[in-house]
Amino acid sequence: MKIWLDGGLQDIESARVSVFDHGLTVGDGIFETVKAVDGRAFALTRHLDRLTRSARGLGLPDPDHDEVRRACAAVLEANPVPLGRLRITYTGGHGPLGSDRGEHGPTLVVALGGTTRRPDSTAVITVPWTRNERGALTGLKTTSYAENVVALARAREQGASEALFANTVGQLCEGTGSNVFVVLDGEIHTPPLASGCLAGITRALAIDWTGATETDLPLDVLERADEVFLTSTLRDVQAVHRVDDRELPGAPGPVTAKAMRNFEERSGNDLDP
Ligand code: PLP
Repeated sequence: MKIWLDGGLQDIESARVSVFDHGLTVGDGIFETVKAVDGRAFALTRHLDRLTRSARGLGLPDPDHDEVRRACAAVLEANPVPLGRLRITYTGGHGPLGSDRGEHGPTLVVALGGTTRRPDSTAVITVPWTRNERGALTGLKTTSYAENVVALARAREQGASEALFANTVGQLCEGTGSNVFVVLDGEIHTPPLASGCLAGITRALAIDWTGATETDLPLDVLERADEVFLTSTLRDVQAVHRVDDRELPGAPGPVTAKAMRNFEERSGNDLDP
């Protein structure tokens, strides 16, 4: 397995990042997960734009898009897989303990992991912890993911694959690694970015392609929604068949099934050549 580090490809076994890298010591880093199909990255331009937005939000130098593109292409060429996930990690770099930021420029790592097609439907739970819709990191895709790791562990304990958060004012926000949509009387709704959710790339495509509306939704909408679905790079559009103890029999329901088909048919057009 070859990864990209320090401007070129390296063997994963010998590639080394400093133990004082700020991404490791203080979580001063950002990332993107990009789907790769037959050696081609999906929606890479959108991912690069979000990477830059996240970098600016953290005060990191703008990532060099040309280098990240070259890195993705090189990693995909060196590790051919039919379906994979590119992981782009970009941190403040390394410096002495206690320094505010790395002193040698940012660290860029691009690696490839495997992935499998997700089942058509899944179970989710809600968690009692809140997303902060007005925090310094709100909307940034930072490597500070520990809160999501804890919530996801809770979901797994309950036989679910995702945990959904409300924000501090009790509105539905997002999952640990996905955005959430609900169907009410045949209309599709998803929380607005002001809820504190990440500007998911799959979310944006799903809004464009289904005509979903961004709506403030109380968390308890999940108790009465006709259908619920998730979107993310690795799930695409995935139906929800259970929320906590509430079963949603027949998931994917008709509206979700249409959104799934729609996504499947149209997403082939956004692969980088
Ligand atoms: N929300 C969070 C917190 C995420 O981490 C992710 C993806 O990793 C998403 C939503 C979905 O975003 P995307 O569709 O760009 O994968």
